[in-house]
Amino acid sequence: PGQGQLVLEAIGLTKRFGGVTAVDDVSLQIFSGEVLAIIGPNGAGKSTLVNLLSGNLPPTEGSVFIGGEATTGKPAYLVANHGLSRTFQTAALFAEMDVASTVKVGAHLRGSVGMLRSALPTVGALREERRLDAEVWAVLERLDLGHLADREANTLSLGQQKQIEIARALVGRPSILLLDEPCAGLNKAEKKNLMLLLRQLGAEGLAVLVIEHDMEFVMSSADRVQVLNFGATLRVGTPADIQSDPSVIDAYLGV
Ligand code: ADP
Ligand code: MG
Repeated sequence: PGQGQLVLEAIGLTKRFGGVTAVDDVSLQIFSGEVLAIIGPNGAGKSTLVNLLSGNLPPTEGSVFIGGEATTGKPAYLVANHGLSRTFQTAALFAEMDVASTVKVGAHLRGSVGMLRSALPTVGALREERRLDAEVWAVLERLDLGHLADREANTLSLGQQKQIEIARALVGRPSILLLDEPCAGLNKAEKKNLMLLLRQLGAEGLAVLVIEHDMEFVMSSADRVQVLNFGATLRVGTPADIQSDPSVIDAYLGV
């Protein structure tokens, strides 16, 4: 992370659901240009942690800063305006809509295209709409989804739908991308392409946080790994550090 700027910082995040402490005093930093992987057993609190970072859940305690500004407790659509974009562990249910429109709607929903909200389309809004169409197309091509642009999104395979979600998250040029188990449903070739994409996005300065169970994927795509266990951070380090750490092997890799 040395060269990158601190994009997101979480300090002492805790989330309790009744008697269950899902996330227990977790701090983390994500720098521009790095891929940070969060790993840990089922129920370790990974998805809840991402929900706290993205504003999909308010924390019980702790703070989140994006680009130095406090976003703690803000709802997800406002956090998105700070440059954060995400996908969900369970593939979104898409409406009966083609892939290109599905990807484009994501940018609108995130409010990154403010002018489009006005009822009367101004010249500026139409120009913005065209710029967005071009960006949608570029992102689809980049993810090798261009040939699917006209297909109805909800008729595609799970792997393809997960990639469409990533495309949707990338439109609008986020500064930080959070992916919750993006490999689920992807075949070997799709995983390899996703690994290459994450490395490229990192090289372009994006900050990427990825939750993933596929250890081969984690070890080949992450710069740093943070291990969660029972809601708390067990270890942070390079993939090599993590792979050889006895406590990590005990908690996770050994099973
Ligand atoms: P992971 O993504 O690492 O598998 P989760 O963050 O989904 O873990 O869950 C962490 C813990 O919090 C689990 O014990 C889970 O049952 C609990 N949990 C998650 N979401 C809720 C919720 N909305 N209400 C109650 N308990 C929850
Ligand atoms: Mg999860």
